[in-house]
Amino acid sequence: MIKTGLALLACLALPAVAAENPLAAAIARDYKANLEPLFNHLHANPELSYMEVQTAARMAKELRASGFEVTEGVGKTGIVAILRNGKGPTVMVRADMDALPVEEKSGAANASKVKVKDQGGNLVPVMHACGHDVHMTSLVGTAHQMAARKGEWKGTLMLVGQPAEERTGGALDMMADGIYRRFGKPDYALSLHVGADIEAGKIDVSEAPFSGADLIELVVHGIGTHGASPHMGKDPVVIASQIVVGLQTVVTRDIAPREAALITVGSFHAGTKGNVIGDSARLELTVRSESDEARAKLLAGIKRVADNTARAAGVPEDKLPEMRHTDRPVPPTLNDKALMQRLRGVWSAKLGEGIFDKGYQRGGMVGEDYAHFIYGQGIPSVYFMVGGTPGEQVAAARAGKATLAYNHSPLFRVDAEKSIQTGVLATTTALLDLMKQ
Ligand SMILES: [Zn+2]
Ligand SMILES: [Zn+2]
Repeated sequence: MIKTGLALLACLALPAVAAENPLAAAIARDYKANLEPLFNHLHANPELSYMEVQTAARMAKELRASGFEVTEGVGKTGIVAILRNGKGPTVMVRADMDALPVEEKSGAANASKVKVKDQGGNLVPVMHACGHDVHMTSLVGTAHQMAARKGEWKGTLMLVGQPAEERTGGALDMMADGIYRRFGKPDYALSLHVGADIEAGKIDVSEAPFSGADLIELVVHGIGTHGASPHMGKDPVVIASQIVVGLQTVVTRDIAPREAALITVGSFHAGTKGNVIGDSARLELTVRSESDEARAKLLAGIKRVADNTARAAGVPEDKLPEMRHTDRPVPPTLNDKALMQRLRGVWSAKLGEGIFDKGYQRGGMVGEDYAHFIYGQGIPSVYFMVGGTPGEQVAAARAGKATLAYNHSPLFRVDAEKSIQTGVLATTTALLDLMKQ
C-alpha cells in the first residue's frame, strides 16, 4: 500500500507514461539531477540571434561530457555533436539556441534579467520567449539517454545546435558552412518546437508543421503634385490602398479554398503632409504558403495586382510598382509522410495514444528556418510539436475562458519539467526505432 502510494506521488509531476515506461523513468531521474539545473541556467542567461556564444559553449560542454565529438563555430555560432556507434543510419536532431529581444514578465524564479546591446547598438532586454531553452535542454537529455543505450542502436547520431532561428539565418549559415559535407548527410532528421497552445506532456505531429515565408517590399510609384490638384499627378496613396485591398482577392480567388495561403500587408508608408501628393508609397508584405504551386501563384498574383492597379490609374509603364524580397525566403517545413506515419505508430505503441494532444489544431502560418536543412535535400524529416502549458490552462483557453501567453509573449512560461521530459521521451523513442539494430 505505502509503496503504491509513493509511486503514485512520484508520478504526479511526470507525463502519464512515466509510470510504466522505464525510459520515461530514466528521463525523470536525469531531469532532476541534470536537466532542470541546465534549463534554469539557459533560461536565466538568454542570448540574441548571432550572439549565442556562451550558450553554444555550454551546449558543447554538455554534449562532450556525454561522449559526443563536438565541433563549434559551424555557421558562425552553431555546434555539431557526433556520436558514432557502428554501421547504421545517420540521424540528425536539431535544436535552435537563440532568444528574443523581449522583457521577461513571467514571474518565474529563473526569469531573465539580461539586457544587452543588439547588433544595432540598442540596449534591449533578452528572454527565451520562444522556448528554445526547452529545445536545447531536450537535446542534451536525448544525448544522455542515447549515450546510455548504445547497446540498443547502431549508426551515427548527429545533434545540431543551430543559431539565429529567430532571424531565419542560422540554418542557412550552417548549410553554407558545409554541415553535410563535413559531418555527413543524414538519412533522417528530427526537430521539435514547444507550443504554448498544446498541453504539456503531449505532442502533435502534422503534415505541414510550419509554412514557407516570403517577405516582400512593393514600392508604388506615382507622380507628385499639390493635394488640391490631384489631376496634375498620380496619387500613390490611392493606388497603394487599392493594391492592399486587391491583394486580398489573390488569396480568396486564385488559391484553392483548401490550400493554405496568406498575404499580410504589415507596413504601409507614404506621404509627408496633408496637402502634398507624394511620388511613392512603400508596402511591406509577408506571404505564407505550404506548396511550391501556391507560393508561385501568390507571388505572381501580387505582381499582377500591383502592376495592373497602377495601370488602371494611368501610371506609365516605366513607373509600374517595384517588387523585391527584403529577406531570404524560408521554404515550408513539410513532414515526410511515410516517416511521419512510422513515428506516429511508434509513439502510439510505446507511449500510448494519450501522448497526442487531439484537441490541438494549428491555426496560424508561422515559418521556421529548419526548412533550409531539409527542403530539396531528399532527407526524410519529421518536425513535431511539444506541449508547453498545463492541461487545465489549455482546456480553459480552448473553451474561451482564458487567454494563453503564446510564444514570444513577455508572459510566456512553459511547464519546463513536463515539456522537456516529453521532448526527450518522444525524440529518444523515435531515434531508438530509426536506429534499432
Ligand atoms: Zn520564435
Ligand atoms: Zn521558436
